Amino acid sequence: MPASSTPPQGDERATLQRLLDRGFPWMRFPAELEARFQQDMVAQRLQHFLLSGIVALLVYNGFLVVDYLMASDVFWLALQIRLFVFTPLAAAVLWAYWRWGPRILAWRLPVLVEGPVLCSGLMAAASLAFILSSSHTALSHYYHVGFIVVIIYGNIVQRLRFWMAVPFSLLVLAMHLGGIVVLDHMPPRLLGPIVIMVVATIVFTLMANYALERDERRHYLLTLREKALVQELAHTHARLMELSKVDSLTELANRGHFQDYLQQVWRRAAPDRTSLALLMVDVDHFKKYNDRYGHPAGDAALREVARVLGSNLRRPGDLVARYGGEEFVAVLPQSSPETASQVAERVRQAVEGLQVRHEGSSTARVLTVSVGVAHGVAGNLASPEALLKQADQALYQAKREGRNRIRLLMQP
Ligand code: GH3
Ligand code: MG
Ligand code: MG
Repeated sequence: MPASSTPPQGDERATLQRLLDRGFPWMRFPAELEARFQQDMVAQRLQHFLLSGIVALLVYNGFLVVDYLMASDVFWLALQIRLFVFTPLAAAVLWAYWRWGPRILAWRLPVLVEGPVLCSGLMAAASLAFILSSSHTALSHYYHVGFIVVIIYGNIVQRLRFWMAVPFSLLVLAMHLGGIVVLDHMPPRLLGPIVIMVVATIVFTLMANYALERDERRHYLLTLREKALVQELAHTHARLMELSKVDSLTELANRGHFQDYLQQVWRRAAPDRTSLALLMVDVDHFKKYNDRYGHPAGDAALREVARVLGSNLRRPGDLVARYGGEEFVAVLPQSSPETASQVAERVRQAVEGLQVRHEGSSTARVLTVSVGVAHGVAGNLASPEALLKQADQALYQAKREGRNRIRLLMQP
């Protein structure tokens, strides 16, 4: 199924389920879904049409052998029709579809694919009817079974849509019967069996055609349902992560949770005027990393950095969070400036030690981080936000001084 297909949502999933449960005996979906199905299948149909078309054209001309053996009196006529009328026309259509396939696909009009299939089958049948009605050999009567091959081509090989296969089969039958009327000397003992064989082929191939299309449509519905389920799951997962205060990419705490926690730490520390430290960690030249290695690689790098942060801030009471984008933040309650600086330096070295290649960085050949450290005493500063601002200023300083370093700013 092409990527252009947009997955369904909400009550559309109920429609899909209903169709899967109850089936679609009339071989049609509700209008909107039907249109999307037809459009989504155009590319696949076009490819099938081209491949089967090439094989069918070879088979069609292979029937010259049969013409020669069974309708020898009109062999030259058959040769002209097959080689100089039908083949150039069919080859031109196939070439045009091969050459301008993407442009034809862009129109997303199913009739542009189904149309030529129908026409090619009808033209093959018409050419056979014409050859047979021109021939007067005794064997040409038997050659009427050739219509069976045309029916198989349309209904099974090209798999015309069921509601096109029915009129196609009836038209081929009409040509077959028309040919018999022209060949008025067809022996009655032959006429009945051949007509019965052609009709039986129509019935059986239509049954097979119906079953094939039903399976194709079921498969389409199942794919759409799967897409819808995956989308719903992703949505629910993101929602749960939000509720659980976890950042879904890195699985660290999220910003909201960090802020709540910082307030708590602050409230507890303020009466005793205990000190606390904040680390603000920012990945260096991360935009360039994304640009060079792609967003998914960027995400993977962020997870790595997050893992390093998590494993280096394990003291009870420490909390590390994703602050947003490629920025992380950590609170270290009851920490001296020295301890906080040591932790920050350990984190910086550990990220550098990951040796994640970063060719676009002007700082190092590997991914690095800059860390701003703020230290202060709760109660002396107006609010935890003031401490955050201080960490941000320290980070800015580290960036300005060349990145891949830590800077400490103490409370004045
Ligand atoms: P500096 O060294 O000054 O920090 O430069 P920088 O490129 O890291 O900073 P800038 O703020 O210009 O760019 C940050 C980039 O981080 C831009 C954005 O595309 C990327 N980013 C933010 N969030 C995510 C994320 O979740 N995944 C990925 N892959 N990239 C992200
Ligand atoms: Mg950055
Ligand atoms: Mg940043």
